[in-house]
Amino acid sequence: MSGTYDVVIIGGGMSGMMAAITLADTGRKVAVISRGNPLCCLSTGCIDLLAAGDDPLAGIGSLPENHPYNLVGETAVERSLEMFRDVMAREGGVYVGDAHINRRIVTPLGRQKITCLVPASMACADFHPDEYIHLISFSKMKDFYPNYITSNYSNAGCSIFDAGVSTTAGIAACFENEKFRGRFISWLRGLDIPEGKIALPAVLGMNFAVDVCAEISGELGRDVFEIPTLPPSMPGMRLFGGLKNALLKRGVNLYWGKEVYSVEKSADLIEAVTLAGAGRATRVQGNAFILATGSFISGGLYAAMETAGETVFDLPVYLPGRRDIWFDDDFFAPGHAIEKSGICVDRSFRPVDSQIGNLFVCGSILAFSEVMKYRCGHGMAIATGVAAANACGDWYREI
Ligand SMILES: Cc1cc2nc3c(=O)[nH]c(=O)nc-3n(C[C@H](O)[C@H](O)[C@H](O)COP(=O)(O)OP(=O)(O)OC[C@H]3O[C@@H](n4cnc5c(N)ncnc54)[C@H](O)[C@@H]3O)c2cc1C
Repeated sequence: MSGTYDVVIIGGGMSGMMAAITLADTGRKVAVISRGNPLCCLSTGCIDLLAAGDDPLAGIGSLPENHPYNLVGETAVERSLEMFRDVMAREGGVYVGDAHINRRIVTPLGRQKITCLVPASMACADFHPDEYIHLISFSKMKDFYPNYITSNYSNAGCSIFDAGVSTTAGIAACFENEKFRGRFISWLRGLDIPEGKIALPAVLGMNFAVDVCAEISGELGRDVFEIPTLPPSMPGMRLFGGLKNALLKRGVNLYWGKEVYSVEKSADLIEAVTLAGAGRATRVQGNAFILATGSFISGGLYAAMETAGETVFDLPVYLPGRRDIWFDDDFFAPGHAIEKSGICVDRSFRPVDSQIGNLFVCGSILAFSEVMKYRCGHGMAIATGVAAANACGDWYREI
């Protein structure tokens, strides 16, 4: 596709993809540019909304006023999650959960993770500690440690299946095969598993784990669920695959593996960006742009000795004071001050202190999002992606 796009989205993560779907659904001609695969590929595939009490949606009211959720508003956050579920269900990735209920699911390290929406293959992962759980693991499988789990649960057992392969993706590929599933189910039937739930690492197929899980559960007449593994994470890959398919079905043009290296401006408007790539450079022209390049991990932001910068448009970046306040060796330390840094936006998701009139910003690059502290990763990306796209749509109607 060539010519001018209505909206060009830079960054193909959860926020950028949800923004693209929102705009394409209103008939806009959209392009998404992404340097690489997003963080959702590494994630558990579960949608964390907010780890604050039992009702995450109500918890939004207790967040600092400048948190991006407060720009979106509770009702719109809830609606954006419904939209996400709808989009994923059409791609075979049914999600269950309620924006008013936090779930506690088992992690591969035997701890509990607070999350909100989960793939249907994890629907019964929220279980009572007294309940019996039988773990199935696979010979020589890396990235899954059943002993961590069984040592944390007194009422648990474990059996090991030899799938003939040992990698997460390799075992998931085996589950796409009907004969393999038949052999696996027969083996399970032959085990003398006490009454309770059966849990497996998240390897029940590359794409249609929900169906595979339902098949095993139906055959055995038992509750069966997946436990997310450490990266590489099949539920994260399935989530990404579902959203990418949804973009393609809507005619969104994808420039994948491409990075913006220069920006053309005229007066206060961005006119085009140029992408680096093998061979010749590609110029992508748009009427409006959405920045969704993520935070430091994805390269949307960078830190220098005393400052931090934004990589594509050189937007001003909010920093929580001097370097000694925000520097900490452990990037993943909860409450790390650097998490507050990012792009400040107004209620229409336009960057403040910038003269650009046709630019909107969403996702984890937003200032004050503090994704790790509040455990609001995908939830915040979905909500701000949809909200920024709607603000962009409103701007279009006004010009
Ligand atoms: C290991 C890990 C596990 C996580 N697990 C969970 C979880 O289980 N549940 C949950 O809710 N949250 C989880 N999170 C948090 C969540 O993944 C993120 O907060 C969320 O996905 C961020 O989405 P985003 O759209 O803001 O950005 P990102 O996912 O970071 O996407 C940004 C995209 O922009 C691209 N990009 C960057 N710069 C450029 C450029 N110059 N030109 C073109 N493209 C560019 C990047 O390549 C990337 O694809 C996890 C995070 C990590 C690191």
